[in-house]
Amino acid sequence: MIIAPKIRGFICTTAHPEGCAKHVAGQIAVVKSRGLIGNGPKKVLVIGSSTGYGLSSRIAAAFGSNAATIGVFFEKPGEPAKCGTADWYNTAAFEKEAAAAGLYARSFNGDAFSDPVKSEVIAAIKADLGQVDLVIYSLASPRRTDPKSGEVYKSVLKPVGESYTAKNLNTTTGVVNEITIAPAEGDDEAQTTAVMGGEDWELWTDALLEAGVLADGVRTVAYSYIGPEVTWPIYKNGTIGKAKEDLERVQRALDEKLAPLNGKAWVSVNKALVTQASSAIPVVPLYISLLYKVMKADGTHEDTIEQMDRLLRDRIYNGNPQADAAGRIRVDDWEMTPEVQALVGKRWDGVNTENLSELGDFEGYQSSFLRLFGFGLTGVDYAAESDPGVGVPSLER
Ligand code: NAD
Repeated sequence: MIIAPKIRGFICTTAHPEGCAKHVAGQIAVVKSRGLIGNGPKKVLVIGSSTGYGLSSRIAAAFGSNAATIGVFFEKPGEPAKCGTADWYNTAAFEKEAAAAGLYARSFNGDAFSDPVKSEVIAAIKADLGQVDLVIYSLASPRRTDPKSGEVYKSVLKPVGESYTAKNLNTTTGVVNEITIAPAEGDDEAQTTAVMGGEDWELWTDALLEAGVLADGVRTVAYSYIGPEVTWPIYKNGTIGKAKEDLERVQRALDEKLAPLNGKAWVSVNKALVTQASSAIPVVPLYISLLYKVMKADGTHEDTIEQMDRLLRDRIYNGNPQADAAGRIRVDDWEMTPEVQALVGKRWDGVNTENLSELGDFEGYQSSFLRLFGFGLTGVDYAAESDPGVGVPSLER
C-alpha cells in the first residue's frame, strides 16, 4: 500500500517501513562515523528499545561497541494491509542491520511492567548471553498495570500546587497561544510516580539480580529531564518531575544493591528532543522549537543518537562520568549552557504565531516529528507501494 502520514494531535497513526529503516540506518551511520567506544558494553538489555532515547541507546551500544542487545518494547506489528507502529519497523530494521554486522539482537514485544515479560527476558539472557553488563531503562508510558495488585496507574502531566499558564504551540497548526493547566489533584502525583518513577526500574533490577544475570561491574541507567525554569511548573516541579525525583531515590537504592557486583546505577539527564513521549507534554514543543533554532545555529544541536553515543562514549565508559552535585550524569549540558538558555529565554518572551518561524525552528520540529514515523527521509520513494507487514526477525523464529 501507499503509506502517507496521518497526524492526530501529537501522534501519527501511520508509519513507513522503509522510512523507519532509513532513520535507523542514519543513526547507525552517526555512531559508526565516531569509531568504536573503548571498553564499551558488550551485552546490553534495553527496556523501551524501539524509538526515542531507548532505540538510540540500543544503536549506540550495538554499533559503537559491537554489543549484543536484547530490546523490550510494547508496540503494534504491521499487517499485510495495515500499518504497524514506527517502533515495530524500527526494531525490524535494527535487527536486520545488526544481523548484517554479525551482532546478536533479540527483541521482546510485550508489557515490560509485567512479571511474565521480565521472566521471558531473563530466560533469554540466561540462554543466549549468560549475563548482561549494561541495563538501559527508557520506558515512557501513560499507564502501568501493577504486576501484583493489577491496579492500573495513570500518569498525568500537571503542575503541582497551583495552575500554570504559559505559552503553548499547536504543533499541527503552528499557532502559539496560551494554555492554562489545572493543578494535580487527588492521587495524581502518586499515580504518575507509580508509572514514571523508579519502582519498575527497581523491580527489573531485583529480578535480574536474583536470577544472577547481571555481570560483575554492571551499569544501569535511567533517563530524566530538568530543563529551564520556564518549563518547571509543568516538568521539573510538576507531576512528572516528582516521578523523576523518585527515579533518583531508586538510583541510590540500586547503587547499594549493585555494590557487591561492583556495579553502578545512574540517572542521566538528557536533552529535550522531539520524541513520541515529549510531543505529548504541553509547553515543551514550543521550548524545543526555540531550542533547536539556537543550538543548530550554534553547531551544538544533537538528536537522540548523538546524545546516547556521547552518554556511553564520553560519560559512562570513559572513566569520567562528570556527575553533578546530585550524582546525575548530564548530557543536557550543552542545552543548559547560560548562553543557550539566555537566548531561548529572550525569544520565549517575544515569540508569537507570526514570528515563530523566525525565532524558532518549527520546521525542524515538524520534520523531526515526521521522521520518528519514517516520513520525510531522503532516498525513500513515498509514492511507491510499501509492505506494512514487515516482520521483526527475532519475533518470527
Ligand atoms: P519514547 O516515547 O520515544 O519511547 C518510549 C519507549 O517505551 C518505546 O520503546 C515504547 O515501546 C516503550 N514502552 C512504553 N510502554 C511500554 C511497556 N509497557 N512495555 C514495554 N515497552 C514500553 O520515549 P523517550 O522520549 O525516548 O523517553 C524515554 C525516557 O527518556 C523517559 O524516561 C523520558 O522521560 C526520558 N527523557 C526524554 C526526553 C525527551 O525530550 N524526549 C528528555 C530527557 C529524558
